[in-house]
Parts: sequence; C-alpha cells; structure tokens
Amino acid sequence: METLVVIGAGPKAMAVATKAHVLRELGLPAPRVVVVEAQAVGGNWLATGGWTDGRHRLGTSPEKDVGFPYRSTWARGHNRAINGAMMAYSWTSFLIDQGTYAEWVDRGRPSPQHHMWAKYLQWVATRIDLELVVGTVRSIAATADGWLLTAVDAAGIPTEIDADSLMITGPGHSEKALTKHPKVLSIAEFWDLAGKRKLPVSSRAAVIGGGETAGSALDELVGHGMLSISVISPMATIFTRGESYFENSLFSDPSTWSALSSEERREVIRRTDRGVFSVQVQETLLGDDRVHHMQGRVVRIADQGEGVALTLRNEMRPDQVHVVDLVIDATGGEPLWFLDMFDAHASDLLELAVGGRVTHARIESSIGYDLAVSGLDAKLYLPNLAALAQGPGFPNLSCLGELSDRVLRTDSVGARPAHVRNRVRAGR
Ligand SMILES: Cc1cc2nc3c(=O)[nH]c(=O)nc-3n(C[C@H](O)[C@H](O)[C@H](O)COP(=O)(O)OP(=O)(O)OC[C@H]3O[C@@H](n4cnc5c(N)ncnc54)[C@H](O)[C@@H]3O)c2cc1C
Repeated sequence: METLVVIGAGPKAMAVATKAHVLRELGLPAPRVVVVEAQAVGGNWLATGGWTDGRHRLGTSPEKDVGFPYRSTWARGHNRAINGAMMAYSWTSFLIDQGTYAEWVDRGRPSPQHHMWAKYLQWVATRIDLELVVGTVRSIAATADGWLLTAVDAAGIPTEIDADSLMITGPGHSEKALTKHPKVLSIAEFWDLAGKRKLPVSSRAAVIGGGETAGSALDELVGHGMLSISVISPMATIFTRGESYFENSLFSDPSTWSALSSEERREVIRRTDRGVFSVQVQETLLGDDRVHHMQGRVVRIADQGEGVALTLRNEMRPDQVHVVDLVIDATGGEPLWFLDMFDAHASDLLELAVGGRVTHARIESSIGYDLAVSGLDAKLYLPNLAALAQGPGFPNLSCLGELSDRVLRTDSVGARPAHVRNRVRAGR
C-alpha cells in the first residue's frame, strides 16, 4: 500500500486521513496516511501554537468541517456511501457525541473558539485511529521512490519516515517580526504576552497585515485599553468577507474556477481572501473609533523618543512616518516556508518541475487538479498554494471534503495508479 505522509495535523490532514479511512472501510483503494505533527493535533488552533490564544472564534462556520461539502462525485456507485460515512466525523456528530448539539443550535449555531475547533480535530483523530508521529520535520530528501523525511521529537531524537507521496500543510512559522526590537512583536510573541496579560504598556499600537492573523490580533488588542490602533496594509481599505452565497459558493465549489481568466481569479482572491476580515471581526472593529486603517508597506522602522517610527511607502504619495508605541507583525505565514527543509536533490527536482528557480508564482501556477505540483512523479501536494490554479477554498477551511477528494481520487475505483516513481531520480 502506498504511504501518503502529511506534515502538520491540522484540518487538512484530518480531512485527508478521514476520507482515506472511510474509503478503506468501504473496501475502496486508499493510501496509508501518516501524519507528522510538531505539537498536537490541531496545534495551531491552541494557545501554544503561536497563531492564536485559542479563545478567538473561527471566522467561518464550523459546519465547514473535515467532510464539507459532502459531495464526492468521482467514485461511481460509491459516492452516496462515501458522503454518508463522512458524516460520522462532522462537526455536528462531534457535538452530538459531546452532548452539546441541542445547546449549540439553541444558541444560534455560534462559531466555536479556536481551542474548541482543535478539540473537534482531536476527536476526529481518535475516531479514525490516526497514525500520528509526534515530531518536527527538519528535512525532506528525494529518494528513488518518493520522499524521506527526518523528524525530531522533543528530546531531539530523530526518526526517519518514508513517503511515496507528501502533503505539506500549515502557514509555517509565527516567530518572524519585521525587525528585532522590543516594541516590534511577532504574532507568536504577541499571543504569548497577551495570554499572560503582559503586553508592553502602550497607548498607540499598529498591526501590520490585513488577513485572519491580523484580524484575530486586532480583536484581542481592542480589549487592552489602547488609545489608538492602526491597521497597516497595502490594500486601499480593509474589506469584509461578505459571506454572500455567490462568494461562498466559489469557495465551497471550485468546479467553475477553471472557467475564469487568471485576472478574474486574482480579483476574486483579492476581494474575498487577501486583506479581508471576517464579518464577525469587522463588526467589533467598526464600532470602535480607536481603530483606523493606513494604506502602505512598512519600509523602515526606527526608534523615535519612547516610540517606534514606521515609514509607510505607498506608490500614490510620498512616504509617511507614523509613530506608535507597539507594533505587531501580523503579516501571516511564509507560503514557501517548507523549502528550507528540502535537500539539494529535492530542490533540483522541484526546480525542474516548475520550470526555473522556485518562486511563489511558479509553484502557484504549477499546481494541478490533484493539488500536487505537476511534473513531479512522486506527488508533492501543496493545497495552501492551490488557490490561484484550483480554487480559493483550498488553502483554508472552505472545502476540506473536496480537497481530500482531489488528493485521494483514483482514475477508476479499484485501479489506483501503479506506484509512482520519480522519473528524474531514476537515473541517479
Ligand atoms: C488566527 C487564524 C484564524 C483563522 N481562521 C480561519 C477561519 O475561520 N476560517 C478559515 O477558513 N481559515 C482560517 N484561517 C486560515 C487557516 O490557517 C487555515 O484555514 C487552516 O488552518 C489551514 O489548515 P492546515 O491544516 O493547513 O494547517 P494548520 O491548522 O495551521 O496546521 C499545521 C500544523 O503543522 C504543524 N507543523 C508546522 N511545522 C511543522 C513541522 N516542521 N513538522 C511537523 N509539524 C509541523 C503545526 O504544529 C500545526 O499543527 C485562520 C488562520 C489564522 C492564523
């Protein structure tokens, strides 16, 4: 049986491992799924993960769970059974199991706090008997028949894990900050200090970034007695994710995505995903007259008196200097964070596959229907980079069931393609 290794036990890993479990239970072909996780299942949704304090709420509905949208269509004669079996691992099944379903409905189906979302993912992992390796992946080597990962556990003891195919999830590190300065915090430092109620005393704060990471940080900051809070992003303003049917359907059902031009796709992503706060966060911020948006990119940070002077660059006007007492770098993850783990051979293979030096743009446009980089024989699934080529819902929680279908789908049920080998490697 082929082994698919997933780095990171977040929602994407749970979606794929659960679908593989269901396929096997139905007697259909599926790879063995092994998940390698540095912290715990759902780790990035817990206070210890560096992306949240765990108390903020999901922006999307929890019904967009590991099976959503429950619409497998590729396994002729088995689709109903697959969709039905996946329901056993849904958010509502979790609540029923915990005895809190009626209360959740009666309270108006609230979005859960992040730590509760992690609890749901952990419940799924237990129910499917997830094959989990606890360790941090440090290196990824290309081998003659797949990938070889080296992970180290908390004691620094290494384990090697063989993979026929590999899926990489998560946003990478949350420790990066624009500069090393006691008043400029990474998102990890911010959540650590906010959780301990030890944020530096400050009256003017600036949050750099316009996505979910910045949204959660702002949601927290407004409760900390600042006099002014600036949100700095290159966008003309901060948009709200409208959550209308038309927007949402593009996220849940990427089938029409390929009919859009690349300019139209970029426009949808710009308007609905980048520089966009959830309706819930936007509602809190709208009512707070301390919160303002400033357009620009921070190009310089310097001490000024007791504060920090940020130089904002904006093509349309001269540089502006904005002085604050506290800066939070909430620009989010590094999309290509995993490249540092690739050995020279794996990097060469990726370069050959994408047709040149590995850049964000080249990888994005190389992602195929199966959410893997096209042109590599040993599959490398990168759903976080699949928005432009395959649909805006793949990097987030909008269509985890569709994501698992794309990764696990076989051309004809019962005939999973023969073991994949890496053509380029075979000559070495
Ligand atoms: C604060 C915040 C709120 C968000 N809210 C929403 C929302 O409401 N709706 C939505 O659709 N999207 C939301 N997002 C986007 C969200 O990141 C993605 O939707 C989703 O988490 C991605 O899931 P994932 O499975 O890729 O990764 P994650 O859940 O991020 O999991 C990645 C895992 O990888 C592990 N890991 C990292 N490096 C290694 C390594 N080297 N070795 C082993 N394990 C490793 C981490 O410990 C982590 O557990 C939010 C993001 C943030 C930061």
